[in-house]
Order: sequence, then structure tokens, then C-alpha cells
Amino acid sequence: MTDAATQGLAADRFCESCGYNLRGLTGDRCPECGSEFDPDALPIAQIPWLRRSRIGVWKAYWQTVFAVILHPIQFARETGKPVQLKLEDADRFRKVVCRAAAVSATIGFIGPLLLRFSPQTLLETSVGLLIVGLGAWTFASIFLRICTTSLPITFVAPADIPRARIMLCYAAAPWAMLPPLAFLGVCTACFGAWDFSRLLFSCFVLGLIVQLVLAWGIGVVMVSSISGYRTGSVVEAGVLIPLTYFGAAVASIAALFAIGAILTILLSMITGVLGGLLH
Ligand SMILES: [Zn+2]
Repeated sequence: MTDAATQGLAADRFCESCGYNLRGLTGDRCPECGSEFDPDALPIAQIPWLRRSRIGVWKAYWQTVFAVILHPIQFARETGKPVQLKLEDADRFRKVVCRAAAVSATIGFIGPLLLRFSPQTLLETSVGLLIVGLGAWTFASIFLRICTTSLPITFVAPADIPRARIMLCYAAAPWAMLPPLAFLGVCTACFGAWDFSRLLFSCFVLGLIVQLVLAWGIGVVMVSSISGYRTGSVVEAGVLIPLTYFGAAVASIAALFAIGAILTILLSMITGVLGGLLH
């Protein structure tokens, strides 16, 4: 029997088809549903996202988000067991979180404008609104990409860099709070004339603060778990994560200005050429 199989017998191994606990079994078939499994392979980590083909993407996504937010230490401990973990799966989870967050941040930003403008104003400012929307989406996409990938892992968690990269991807989970927050932001604009909107707006701001603090705290817990919560790595992650957010904001604004400048130059060139052709 291989090392992987010995380790697999010691750890919980669940059937990929029905979820039956296969711990201690020496055969290669699940006694519950009859599905085959490889007793020599390491068991798959108990992360809902890794069971998405069985339980569905929506359920797997939200179960993983809540597992990371509510039990980050337990989640980190699970990845430290002799289990199968792939960066591709973790990165796919991170991308889904970031795309949903970027789209909802854009809707949260221009939604209130769309709701408050009269149909006439909307028609007159449609091009401007489209540019503002694209700008918001570009900013959010670049910002989230940097925030969820650019922590200097080799410095913060030198003990196990491949696992640290995976942990950083799952640590993106708190950004999954942005879609419900954007919905709250749009609702605030709907009830614009009422006192109720103040309450909604306060909830929205409070939610944003909680989200940022969670992203920071969970990032620290997940990444420094690699070094067994060594004081040095906790402090390094604690300082570097907010610095990364600040750097991401600066880089996103710079990118936005650069794209804006390039588009302006291109547009003036096109109008110049078109003007020349028409005369
Ligand atoms: Zn089974």
C-alpha cells in the first residue's frame, strides 16, 4: 500500500458521487452507491467548491464563502491535511468571486444614477453613463485582481508557497459580500425621498466597512496558517494586506487615467481623419 493510501486511510475520505465516508475501507468501490474510487490517491479536501460538479456551482460557491468567512481557521486546517488541493480550483473560485464583485460594484455605482435621472436626462447622458459604467467596471476589476493575487507570498508564507497561493485565492471569499451590498446601495437610491434611505445607506456603509475588515482579517488568518500562525507572519500579513489594497487602489486609478488618455487620443485622431475625409 502506498504512502498516499496509508494517509488516506487515516483521514476522512468521502465518496465523490454520494458523500459516503469511505474512511478505513480497503476496496475500491463505495458500499453506498457502488462508485469506483482510487484508494491510492489522496482524498479530496473537504471544501464545498471541490464538490461543485455533484452539489451544483451555486450551492458549492455559497457554502465555500460561508465556510471561509465563518470558520477560517478550520478551513485552513483542512487544507493542511494530506488531501488533494489544486491551484486551478482555488483560482476558479477567486475569479467567480471577483467577476461577480466587479459587475455588482459597477451596478451599485451607476444604478443609483440610472434610478434618479429622468428618462430625458438618461437619453441625453447615455454615452457619458456608458463610459462611467465601463470606468467603474475597469477600476473594480483591476482593484480586485491585485487585492486577491498580489500579496508577496514568498515573504509572508515561505513555509509552503503552493498552499499559500491556494489559501490566498480562497481568502477572496469576503468580496462575495459586494453583490448584496451593491443591491443595498441601489435600494438606497430607490427610497431616495424617504428617511428609510438613510437607514439603508448607513447599513450599506457599515456593510462595506465590515467587508473590508473581514477581507483583511481572513487574509491574515488564511495566509499565516501556513507558518502555524507564527507571530512574524501574522504581523507581516497584517501590514502587507492593507498596503496591497492601497497599492491596488492607486494602480487602478492610474490604469483608468491611462486608458482614458489613450481613448481620448484615439477618438481625436479618428475625428481628425473623418473631418479630413469629409472636407
Ligand atoms: Zn458513493
